[in-house]
Amino acid sequence: MKYIFVTGGVVSSLGKGLTAASLGTLLENRGLKVALQKFDPYLNVDPGTMNPYQHGEVYVLDDGAETDLDLGHYERFTNCKLTRLNNLTSGQVYQAVLNNERDGKYLGKTVQVIPHVTNEIQNRIHLLAEQSKADVIITEIGGTTGDIEGLPFLEAIREFALEVGPHNALFVHVTYVPFIKAAGELKTKPTQQSVAKLREIGIAPHILVCRCEKPLEKELRQKISMFCNVPVEAVIEERDVEHSIYEVPLMLQRERMDDLVCNQLHLDVPAANMAHWQEVLRKIIAPQHQVRIGVVGKYIELQDAYKSVYEAIIHAGAANDCGVETQKVDAEAIEREGAAKLLDGLAGILVPGGFGERGIEGKIEAARYSREKKIPYLGLCLGMQIATIEFARNVLKLPKAHSTEFDPNTPHPVIAMLDEQTRVTKKGGTMRLGAQPCQLVVGTRTARLYGAFVVNERHRHRYEFNNTYRERFTKAGMAFSGFTPDGKLVEIIELPEHPFFIGSQFHPEFHSKPHQPHPLFRGFISAARARGEKK
Ligand code: GLN
Repeated sequence: MKYIFVTGGVVSSLGKGLTAASLGTLLENRGLKVALQKFDPYLNVDPGTMNPYQHGEVYVLDDGAETDLDLGHYERFTNCKLTRLNNLTSGQVYQAVLNNERDGKYLGKTVQVIPHVTNEIQNRIHLLAEQSKADVIITEIGGTTGDIEGLPFLEAIREFALEVGPHNALFVHVTYVPFIKAAGELKTKPTQQSVAKLREIGIAPHILVCRCEKPLEKELRQKISMFCNVPVEAVIEERDVEHSIYEVPLMLQRERMDDLVCNQLHLDVPAANMAHWQEVLRKIIAPQHQVRIGVVGKYIELQDAYKSVYEAIIHAGAANDCGVETQKVDAEAIEREGAAKLLDGLAGILVPGGFGERGIEGKIEAARYSREKKIPYLGLCLGMQIATIEFARNVLKLPKAHSTEFDPNTPHPVIAMLDEQTRVTKKGGTMRLGAQPCQLVVGTRTARLYGAFVVNERHRHRYEFNNTYRERFTKAGMAFSGFTPDGKLVEIIELPEHPFFIGSQFHPEFHSKPHQPHPLFRGFISAARARGEKK
């Protein structure tokens, strides 16, 4: 078993997760079985209780774990199966240690960061190694070297590497080489200092991945090599990508990073065959067609809030040989300025998931506009609930219809809390979460798109379609195209008379990969493309 640890220096947001995932892609394409894991130093047990301003998207796994969005990259870039074992936070570590202490497992001892907290961290690596039976475990450490809260993790991996021996563990440090405009040059000092910080902790990185805007010329590589004590070929340039994040694996391959890793870890495997990857990338970068769709949300200014949705759109675009320009529309702006002004000319409208009341009326307006103007609509979780409320208000003529999430006293609660949810008092990990089977209704557009009878899709919500209204909706022209196998919960709605109008109570975006675009997204972009071409 081989272990790769990915740390980050200088600043956050360097794309450590993408680097780790891309290395995973390369190693997988060399025939290795890879498992990826993320350690997050914050004290929340999981990111499920944080809002997108703090953390970006909360990525949900099949087993219902609410995790860091880097796990989304891991799943999109590799075939690695992720479970809650693949994301560890300081919160979980301390919770485990404190539970052990109360259970008397350390009886007689003083409980300390070293060894008790560090052991708990190391256990998680061992556990993943055992469970995944992978050849290589890639562990990404969140945060930036020098953060106080990250220290136990760095100490844990330092000890771990010592234990498994020099050719079984490898440290990759992702760092930043800024371009200083006034000087007109790239500067290596921040990298030198962050490597010095790591070495102070006892970790000497084997490979430096240098994020930069401009080419890293030979002299700079030599300088970094000399000051940071790594061979010059282990100074890897990772430039800002030009078109797509899916270029990163190819970029790292050109820099021979995977060769370096394999040599260092004594892995005798053939070169990576990236032909398939290149093919998908070509479709993303140079499509024949082009459409513009709108994503209507309330965290529109945050690049990371709807990460998986944007990625799923790109995958579906590639599958349709179609470049997709995503226009980010602020739901509150629709409330102020009207749907027509902000949504005119779009070939498709997507309303993603969300919580809380802000922007809800704007999203409802967007759904109305899509329905009336026959613009392809895809509603995800909250977006499905929004479409339901809109239909109740404007087609069933129940103007006060709402979800009890936003109006607990509505006379027409077309979306209401699940029975089991009404008894829940704790906030963390208590929603309807993870992959659940959904039976599709034969003859519906949804069933045709999936080409299946039963699908498994990931959930993260508390509210549901209220069954009391089923009949009225059906009579008025809405179709239910997916249910839980017991028939009790509505999972998917659609409007058969519309060119494309589908809402799912689950989050299909979490199952989309570049080479396996999700059927619902694929259908949505195909319909948008058709609309664009007609115009
Ligand atoms: N707020 C809604 C619910 O809890 C939708 C959640 C979501 O979109 N993820 O049911």
